[in-house]
Amino acid sequence: MSYFKKDKRNCKKGWKIPVEICYNMQEGSDRVAELKDVKGIGPKSLALLNKINIYTVEDLVTHYPFRYEILERNNLQEVEDGEKIVIDGRVESIPILMRFKAGLNKMNFRLVTPSGVVGVSIFNRAFLKSQLVVGTGVTVIGKLDKKKNVITAADIKLETLSNKVKIEPVYHATSGLTNKNISTYINMALLQFGREIPDYIPEEYMERYNFSNKKTSLNLIHNPSTQQKLKEVTIRLKYEELFAFMFKINYLKLENKKKKQGLERKIDKEKLQEFIKSLPFELTNDQQKAVNEIVEDLEASHRMNRLLQGDVGSGKTIVAFLAMLANHLSGFQSALMAPTEILATQHFHNLENFLQNNQNKENSNIKIALLTGSTSKKDKQKIYEELKNGTISMVVGTHALIQEEVEYHNLGLVITDEQHRFGVHQRANLQNKGKKPDVLYMSATPIPRTYALTIFGDMDVSTIKERPKGRQKIDTVVKKNSEIKDVLEMMYKELKQNHQVYVIAPLIEESENSDLATVCQLRDQMKLAFKDRYKIDIVHGKMASAAKDMIMQQFSENKIQILISTTVIEVGVDVPNATTMVIFDADRFGLSTLHQLRGRVGRGESKSQCILVSDSDASRLKIMEQVDDGFKISEEDFKLRGHGDLFGTKQSGDMAFKIANIRLDYKILLQAKKDSKEYLLNKETDNDPLKIKLIESITKG
Ligand code: ADP
Ligand code: MG
Repeated sequence: MSYFKKDKRNCKKGWKIPVEICYNMQEGSDRVAELKDVKGIGPKSLALLNKINIYTVEDLVTHYPFRYEILERNNLQEVEDGEKIVIDGRVESIPILMRFKAGLNKMNFRLVTPSGVVGVSIFNRAFLKSQLVVGTGVTVIGKLDKKKNVITAADIKLETLSNKVKIEPVYHATSGLTNKNISTYINMALLQFGREIPDYIPEEYMERYNFSNKKTSLNLIHNPSTQQKLKEVTIRLKYEELFAFMFKINYLKLENKKKKQGLERKIDKEKLQEFIKSLPFELTNDQQKAVNEIVEDLEASHRMNRLLQGDVGSGKTIVAFLAMLANHLSGFQSALMAPTEILATQHFHNLENFLQNNQNKENSNIKIALLTGSTSKKDKQKIYEELKNGTISMVVGTHALIQEEVEYHNLGLVITDEQHRFGVHQRANLQNKGKKPDVLYMSATPIPRTYALTIFGDMDVSTIKERPKGRQKIDTVVKKNSEIKDVLEMMYKELKQNHQVYVIAPLIEESENSDLATVCQLRDQMKLAFKDRYKIDIVHGKMASAAKDMIMQQFSENKIQILISTTVIEVGVDVPNATTMVIFDADRFGLSTLHQLRGRVGRGESKSQCILVSDSDASRLKIMEQVDDGFKISEEDFKLRGHGDLFGTKQSGDMAFKIANIRLDYKILLQAKKDSKEYLLNKETDNDPLKIKLIESITKG
């Protein structure tokens, strides 16, 4: 990066070359302009700018206003006594300057405006005196004292009387660094180095959309002349940011297809179909489509990098199992990784059933294993051995699967369930096991279209929208704590029909300052309410996993009727006989989490219900009553809480846009996606310096 070159010889003191030209003339020098080269930025302001994450000239000029103040002019008659006034006029008298102690000063002059003559006072702006020449057009912003007919000005802008509306940028600032300072630095930087700021839009698109050049656009975004202009350049700068971003995503996707040659394999699709036919239910169209897409990827020469997303209960697990079977049929090992032991254990048992249920007995010879943190040392050693020599064909587990000791004979497929719960690093680790395994990610958090495009933009996506047949809508109601009797009665009604109930409490221990319901407290209350009629037990995150598993097992066998837990059961657990979900302090959860929790019920044939208990009248929870589409809910969640709730914090950093907002600017995003792909694929532009630079920034960073 050497955009800001400067030839010192031309910049010697005494030369009357404007700074701007001075900085632009220079070829062949290697000095890059730094923030401290901006006139007016000394060590102190440099430190302050660093504090708000501004380190380079480019950072500075792309420190966009977060909003604008629209100063509409008014006249002397319109404004009430003591109210704010913004008025244009001409200086009528030579300003009189008064100096006080401690360097303070005050200046008075008369201003002629179309609505009359008025006095103006301004404090501590002695430096303006020389510019306030009689006859100069200015805009005065301040408070009008009607009796004295004087404006106490907060600011005076030196400009001619032009637009009725003045648009003022407002920046994120920090103490010691005012809005005005920032604005001044930005404008100086633009003046000195404006032409050197890199532009990420290729020329052909600049022409196609008739965009202004980068410098002009930056000038206008920081000093908009009209709202129309502001709108135009905002779109242009958003487009630029999204173009560069989508170029990166498209590039990664292309490289993945091109470079990482996948495994060569042939899958016996007839056998697979035969197996599908023998399942106790028919696959939904979406499930079948997902299976086809995965099988196609497995066979293709590129490496699969696919996200399988579907609402809770949409039946992703079976699709994953079929993928593992297909992988097995082509002679490779599969690993399925789940975020919790409970879930891994459940997947393991389901996989066992899945393979056994088939009439085609040869599948029951497939060797499978469960590997978690609580697998005994002895068992672990054996599993490691059998994974290495290839005896085990499918392994299910937690992140124990990616520990160093684990070696695979020929790992061909890696699946991670609820993938957003795994850190990026863990995911990469798993992908690197084996030579070039195909990778499938599963997520039950439906990702709003816009996010799928960006965060997972480098992946292919299979989506399951359709629910398995016979599923009924889960009735959701919001109840107050004072209506606990209703809640208990609703629970009782279900329990009497031999159904089971989940109860969710957000905290494990009672802390002094917390009035949150706690697991133990809830258990005692439930015991009081239901006496010995039903067995009540608890699971929580701090429990040993063997104990957790035991309780989950008992619950799934209906040996426990009311299971009280923290959100550890949030993901994946499947007990079709459980028909009621009660969530205390529901307002503490994000909508997506609530939807996940709700998805634990409604898995069987019986009508299910979800009761949200909350005293705060959050209208948020009302959304849960009305909407049962996980995609819509995640959109809503996203509007209300941003994406932090949808994904681990690690991913949020990827989404740090300076001016674009991928939700609001979705249309621009789509266009940028299309254009950047076209640009990437266009061989004629391969020697384009911009293209080279864009690719460099991806491969380096
Ligand atoms: P999720 O997508 O939340 O992981 P699961 O895979 O756990 O959902 O599936 C939920 C339940 O639906 C399981 O009990 C599963 O056996 C069942 N199921 C999956 N697909 C179908 C289908 N096509 N028809 C009927 N039931 C199905
Ligand atoms: Mg699942």
